[in-house]
Amino acid sequence: MDNGSSNGADSFAQIPPIKFSKLFINGKFVDSVSGKTFEVVDPRSGEAIARVSEGDKEDVDLAVKAARQAFDHGPWPRMSGAERGSIMMKFADLIEENIEELAALDTINGGKLFSHCKVIDIPVAAKILRYYAGAADKIHGTVLKLSKGLQGYTLREPIGVVGSIIPWNFPTLMFFTKAAPALAAGCTVVIKPAEQTPLSALYYAHLASLAGIPDGVLNVINGFGDTAGAAISSHMEVDKVSFTGSTEVGRKIMTAAAASNLKPVSLELGGKSPLIIFEDADIDEAVDIAFNGLFYNKGEICVAGSRVYVQEGIYEKVEKKLVEKANAWIIGDPFDPLVNQGPQTSKKQFEKILSYIEHGKREGAKLLTGGKHIGNKGFYIEPTIFSGVKEDMTIAKEEIFGPVMSLMKFKTMEEAIKRANDTMYGLAAGVITNNLNVANTVSRSIRAGIIWINCFTRFDLDCSYGGYKMSGFGKDFGLDGLYQYLQIKSVVTPIQDSPWH
Ligand code: NAD
Repeated sequence: MDNGSSNGADSFAQIPPIKFSKLFINGKFVDSVSGKTFEVVDPRSGEAIARVSEGDKEDVDLAVKAARQAFDHGPWPRMSGAERGSIMMKFADLIEENIEELAALDTINGGKLFSHCKVIDIPVAAKILRYYAGAADKIHGTVLKLSKGLQGYTLREPIGVVGSIIPWNFPTLMFFTKAAPALAAGCTVVIKPAEQTPLSALYYAHLASLAGIPDGVLNVINGFGDTAGAAISSHMEVDKVSFTGSTEVGRKIMTAAAASNLKPVSLELGGKSPLIIFEDADIDEAVDIAFNGLFYNKGEICVAGSRVYVQEGIYEKVEKKLVEKANAWIIGDPFDPLVNQGPQTSKKQFEKILSYIEHGKREGAKLLTGGKHIGNKGFYIEPTIFSGVKEDMTIAKEEIFGPVMSLMKFKTMEEAIKRANDTMYGLAAGVITNNLNVANTVSRSIRAGIIWINCFTRFDLDCSYGGYKMSGFGKDFGLDGLYQYLQIKSVVTPIQDSPWH
């Protein structure tokens, strides 16, 4: 089935056993209060592979009560950072002991390449835990030299009960991007995985318990956005919500937080990231960067370089080489080691992408390659490249979140900067050039939370990222990611008879 090859849902199937399907509350797997369950689908076939418990308001309430109790009276926030860190290290070890099974869960549930899950998603999850485990005993305040007769200091204290609501494109990495810094800070957590991809989250809940994370500290509620998600963001006993997902839902979460207990929120939202390629670039390298910057993880990546601006002198060459790469890209079963791109995660997303492709054609963009779905089962889409795209076209304005690239031609750096900034989003951007002045000017002129020079989607745990503009606010990764879960308390006391000022 391709573009290239591979033959369908069953030929490479390595279906792992689905061991956990209930909600995880206060250290135990439990049915939902309503007893309801919902289907989990394998995007390779479009068929159901499991049913999981469906959490709703009452279940969120129970999970928040458990998290509240664990925060207000339990050992987790009270133990030393070093102790929390050592439990988190154990958690990371357990993840590494189960890499194959966890990778297979994200593959059957998310359509993600098994090979990538094995060497990237799951091992990086362990690394995220270790990064924040190492930071847990280095949470410092500052000493304040105050006016005469006073002294003071600040404490960074855990913010309390954290509600985390995550999307389906990186079920494992999103889970730990939220959970690891919150745990290191000493918070307790209620996490809602996306309804499309709950399976690995439940496995992580089990491993957390085995590692020694106390009951109530990490709770997992499977469920839908309008019910379980909304119950978290409007809950009076949740002290903070950390969200990754669409801008539209981000707005709902902020509204719910404002209408309840004014809890702070951090929002990692959508993007429509520009990548600007200048004429002096090495064309093959630029094409590789641009191609992987969009088609990695089937285009389901928030920072995807979906608007590619190419300077006029090399435009046709870049176009041609990108099309060659797309034609050689193998679409098929994500367990097949030869495959480059598996199915889109859900039917809804698959249909949404195809409808954007139709928009692109109707609005006059030139379809260079792709544009169709592949096969008659599962959610496979050809890598698709449009040329001659204009900023006012729907495919240039809206986030597609799939394997669809828009190519645009520009003449000058000033024009490229202006057009790259012509978006409501500001998550990421890239520039490819050998001219340092150009790289520096573009980096400082683009309004986005992370800029890649001569690379793209290069993440590092110590490098925080997060949006500008309608891509949200707040940071994940790095120490800034940890500070999201800490609040500053100032302590002031008189100091008497000190000769020192
Ligand atoms: P989504 O916003 O529809 O859903 C994300 C999560 O929010 C899911 O768990 C969903 O159940 C929940 N949700 C939905 N409605 C809710 C509500 N009313 N209240 C509370 N929670 C609710 O997004 P999606 O379609 O699952 O994911 C794709 C989007 O996520 C894209 O826009 C993408 O850019 C964005 N994303 C951003 C990043 C980032 O780091 N900035 C990373 C991944 C995905």
